[in-house]
Amino acid sequence: MKPYKWTIIGAGAAGIAAVAKLLDLKINGETILWIDPDFQGGDLGKLWRNVSSNTTVARFLEYFNYYDAFQWPTIANNLALSNLPINETCQLTHTADALVSTSKVLQQKVATAYDWVDTLTRNEDGSWTIQTKKTSYESESIVLAQGALPKALDFPNSPEMLAFAEAIDATRLKTHFDKNHVYGVFGASHSAIIILENLINLGAKKVINFYKHPCKYAVDMGDWILYDDTGLKGKAADWAKKNIEGAIPKNLQRFTSSNANIETYLPQCDRVIYATGFQRRDSIKIQGADIHHYDNTTGLIAPGLYGYGIAYPEKYLTPINEIEYHVGLSKFAKYIDKAELG
Ligand SMILES: Cc1cc2nc3c(=O)[nH]c(=O)nc-3n(C[C@H](O)[C@H](O)[C@H](O)COP(=O)(O)OP(=O)(O)OC[C@H]3O[C@@H](n4cnc5c(N)ncnc54)[C@H](O)[C@@H]3O)c2cc1C
Repeated sequence: MKPYKWTIIGAGAAGIAAVAKLLDLKINGETILWIDPDFQGGDLGKLWRNVSSNTTVARFLEYFNYYDAFQWPTIANNLALSNLPINETCQLTHTADALVSTSKVLQQKVATAYDWVDTLTRNEDGSWTIQTKKTSYESESIVLAQGALPKALDFPNSPEMLAFAEAIDATRLKTHFDKNHVYGVFGASHSAIIILENLINLGAKKVINFYKHPCKYAVDMGDWILYDDTGLKGKAADWAKKNIEGAIPKNLQRFTSSNANIETYLPQCDRVIYATGFQRRDSIKIQGADIHHYDNTTGLIAPGLYGYGIAYPEKYLTPINEIEYHVGLSKFAKYIDKAELG
């Protein structure tokens, strides 16, 4: 069988943008293979729907208008996202619906496989063999967009962990919640603040927040945003300003995550939640390349192998010379556009 010219692994926001970029480059869709187990908009579509966004609707629309292959003008009318106030944040369910719709548009233009990639092997001629759960494929080049998983810390005698994905979704949290429990939450990012808010709103007996740095807030500097990728925005910023910088709720205690504080206060917790960042999903075995070293300005991992999305974020130097790693839909679209695919 003739090898595919391109294979994209993952159908989250980054995989979707990569397929659209290749189509906009006028690469024949029949030579593009797209693999994902369910094509439901990636983790955002499957796990974060009930979470409020940290970017504005305008930023999401920037992503959906970025590539012609999305055909956004033809699908926008049926999607709530296109009718929301553009300068406000929104529930991610609206973004997820739009991701699923664009994914469907693209699926009609390329070859798709509802499958899971186990192994990639680099062949002598530089092409790749892709071993999936169901079969195998050959491809000249590959884009990896397999996403990331929440990081967890490991402390001796740690209380039982409550998964990040359960805690960040207020509806799902209710099914695991016990108001007589003391919850430990690590982190002070957008996600950590949403988790604190969820637990406080449910009336937890006590919530103990372990944090490394004081809360950081994104600041609009006119043509750029200070702490764009690390600062609090939207509803999470509003909640933190009121409840952390202002009057701290009675059932919330906050401590820096020093060894002494962890040793003293972690044993008081019944459950612990880690909102301490994400790490690349280690879902694919790669033979012939080292995915731990990628060029974080182009996405190149090895000849014919590229990585995008939250698993391979772009390194960015802010105008005040601080390093940030770009994560977010519109940033993925722009970064992939700069890449020399094709
Ligand atoms: C709580 C939260 C709130 C956020 N809010 C915003 C926001 O407001 N605005 C914004 O722009 N961004 C936001 N983000 C970031 C954004 O959601 C993620 O960066 C984005 O979803 C990542 O997309 P991705 O395509 O890189 O990965 P994913 O969405 O994780 O997609 C990866 C896909 O690859 C598939 N896959 C993995 N391994 C394999 C394999 N071996 N074979 C086949 N398929 C595989 C997975 O099943 C999945 O479908 C938020 C993130 C979180 C956690």
